[in-house]
Amino acid sequence: MGFNTRLLHEGAAIDKGTGATVTPVYQVSAFAHGSAEQLEAVFSNKAPGFAYTRIGNPTVSQFEQRMNALEGGIGAVACSSGMAAVTLSLLNILSAGDELIASSALFGGTIDLFGDLEALGIKVRFAEHITPDELAPLITDKTKAVFTELIGNPRLDVVDLKTVSVFLHDRKTPIPFIVDSTTATPYLVRSFEQGADIVVHSTSKYINGGGNSISGVIIDSGNFNWDTLRYPAFEKYRRFGKFAYLAKLRNGIWRNIGACLSPQNAFMNIVGMETLGLRMERLCENALALAKFFESRDDIEVNYPALEGSAYHELSERLLGGRGGAILTIRAGSRERAFKLINSLKYALIATNIGDVRTLVIHPASTIYLHSTEEQMHSAGVYEDSIRISIGIEDIGDLIEDFSQALDRSEE
Ligand SMILES: *Cc1c(COP(=O)(O)O)cnc(C)c1O
Repeated sequence: MGFNTRLLHEGAAIDKGTGATVTPVYQVSAFAHGSAEQLEAVFSNKAPGFAYTRIGNPTVSQFEQRMNALEGGIGAVACSSGMAAVTLSLLNILSAGDELIASSALFGGTIDLFGDLEALGIKVRFAEHITPDELAPLITDKTKAVFTELIGNPRLDVVDLKTVSVFLHDRKTPIPFIVDSTTATPYLVRSFEQGADIVVHSTSKYINGGGNSISGVIIDSGNFNWDTLRYPAFEKYRRFGKFAYLAKLRNGIWRNIGACLSPQNAFMNIVGMETLGLRMERLCENALALAKFFESRDDIEVNYPALEGSAYHELSERLLGGRGGAILTIRAGSRERAFKLINSLKYALIATNIGDVRTLVIHPASTIYLHSTEEQMHSAGVYEDSIRISIGIEDIGDLIEDFSQALDRSEE
């Protein structure tokens, strides 16, 4: 099946009771059963069915199945936000005394979260680049996971997943590789085929696509062997075999923290994700064209991984099929000019989001990275004069004309 066919048909189920072509919104808190025995069976996972929406809901399950099918995993767990997905993917395996290695070029919220993890006794070591050479000196016998974004938001560095996963898995004590694929999406790369063990998404972005719901998802490849000496909390879940990670998550921290996805938002995501292929195709085309336009001007610096001048050009050819995703960053020369440029745009909305059908712009240094140190900001590829552009599906002629007039006006 090709990507667009898969989006519509894989994991998709016609609603049993009604034949509805899209799983309806089961907007309820609880599900009633015919007998106490029946509810007992559902509660103890001995019979299929639903009991309470924090633990499971048909609309949410359908979204999970479709995300899982798209990434090619063995199961998915939907969360109330991308941050909840990132947090729970890690808390499912880490405990006090453990260490995590992460890219220093992560989404600002994730960097902030890693500060919170310190209070739980989990130490995070940062690598400037996620490569075997930079990871090796940071690994200790306490290292329990490596976390990265596939395309860093907003540094736009691309991680060579295969090389890194081979390095992490071929060690005497293998280390699981957790990949945040929000900015790449399975349209650009299916991370499990490159060796990732766990994939997380902020599905608020490209999966939803319309900028109308906050949500996240955790998907498991089922490939990592959770050695119970290294991960003692997995002892209880050993009987689930390759489903141990998902069983532990669902029966443990995920349901107990309660960061479940609402049925309404799951529905919005299902509707949105069906056009992921069409949107990504257009978004990547628009992004490359706009990047080339910026490249043609000598009054602006542009960063986009699929540009020939980018350090990640070769990797985007090999890993991402020559596409570079839908985010680009530019440097305007000064903070003042960056603000002027942003304020001169007609179409781009000034908003802190990515992955919308509309073009969005933001000055990251004064917003997303407000809580970061200058060093953290620079490692994330953010400077005082940086602007992040999340390209939309508008006609590229209009976008180029708009950025062109804004660039001119910002110089006045
Ligand atoms: C937005 C984003 C998140 C956080 O997702 P929310 O849905 O906003 O909680 C995590 N990782 C990346 C790469 C993101 O872009």
